[in-house]
Amino acid sequence: MNKVLVLGAGQLARMMELAGTPLNLDVKAFDVRSDKVVSPIYPDRIYGDLQQGIANADVITAEFEHVAHDVLAECEQSGKLFPTSEAIKIGGDRRLEKALLESCCAANAKHHFIKNKNDFNKALEVLSLPIIFKTALEGYDGKGQWRLKTAADAESTWQEMADFLASAKETQGIVAEQMVPFDRELSLVGVRRVNGDVAVYPLTENHHTNGILSVSLAAPVDNNLQNQAGTVFKALSDKLGYVGVLAIEFFQVGEQLLVNEIAPRVHNSGHWTQQGADTCQFENHLRAICDLPLGSTELVRPTAMINIIGEDAVPNEVLAVPSVTMHWYNKGKRAGRKMGHINVSGENEQQLAERLQQLAGILCKHAFPDLTDFAYAYI
Ligand code: ATP
Ligand code: MG
Ligand code: MG
Repeated sequence: MNKVLVLGAGQLARMMELAGTPLNLDVKAFDVRSDKVVSPIYPDRIYGDLQQGIANADVITAEFEHVAHDVLAECEQSGKLFPTSEAIKIGGDRRLEKALLESCCAANAKHHFIKNKNDFNKALEVLSLPIIFKTALEGYDGKGQWRLKTAADAESTWQEMADFLASAKETQGIVAEQMVPFDRELSLVGVRRVNGDVAVYPLTENHHTNGILSVSLAAPVDNNLQNQAGTVFKALSDKLGYVGVLAIEFFQVGEQLLVNEIAPRVHNSGHWTQQGADTCQFENHLRAICDLPLGSTELVRPTAMINIIGEDAVPNEVLAVPSVTMHWYNKGKRAGRKMGHINVSGENEQQLAERLQQLAGILCKHAFPDLTDFAYAYI
């Protein structure tokens, strides 16, 4: 039996355990908050410390990119870590990420790195408004971002960032990025095995509410976009000698895709694959890191995922909508926290749109993401 240790004990590790059990894979997780190895599904079950977890594991992987570098080094030393610590670190540092994109000629938003006021002034010179500023390290769910729309606000925006930099660790920095007037946001989740085999899922369309992903929708898109995304995936994953699932977020501008960012792990925009694809992203990640043949990434039927954010219950009527599957993460309720998700499928896009509209009617009454416009857009 293959024993897998996941760095991070959140919902992604939990869904890896759920997907790995039928394959006879034993998935444990290292909880970075308690410094203990636990069962992701039953976090009260404790299996020792990191050293014991590393020694017991056959392979090690990560569910998030902000893992402490000394932990990554220790895992890499064991020869069991997939993907590499380099790939994980790139996902956690927007400067390294931009350098990777440039080295692979992957189109992305024009940008400039900032450490001080001179850099900030230079950014205003080389980019045009509006500009988005992002912390180089530790950003997620739209946290650690500033948006500058008018020159009149430049000084106050800089002051906020200067205060932030002054209180941050030395390695922190800011990436100024041209705001992209995108038509929509898409992402590609794909998987690569040690031998270079690659499989990608259909492009997913993503909608955000207050900076947090709220809805992902997978339905056939045109071949041009799918091929563009697949080419970027191949280039980046080959360059990194990547093993496992890698997600790439894109902005679609006309017929062109610009890379927003990458995530060296299973990804929220791939949760729909649990019901909508032949093999889900969690299983394919485990297959790749255990060096097993990859499963088909074919779309079985149009499927959408709705994140449940900051709520620990949904009305029971949700389950009366056909082809709905609930996924709760067993997490404590907190505003803005991802607590679970709903997957919903249809035989075709029309039927999926109708079901989304039904869900929108049920969920909107309870302060869930506003799906009304979204569902109507697909009818
Ligand atoms: P995630 O939770 O996806 O990791 P994050 O905190 O890393 O989020 P980004 O994905 O970089 O942040 O940005 C969050 C959202 O902000 C994007 O999905 C997009 O809607 C918007 N955004 C980011 N960069 C740009 C840009 N250059 N132009 C326009 N919109 C942008
Ligand atoms: Mg991110
Ligand atoms: Mg993002």
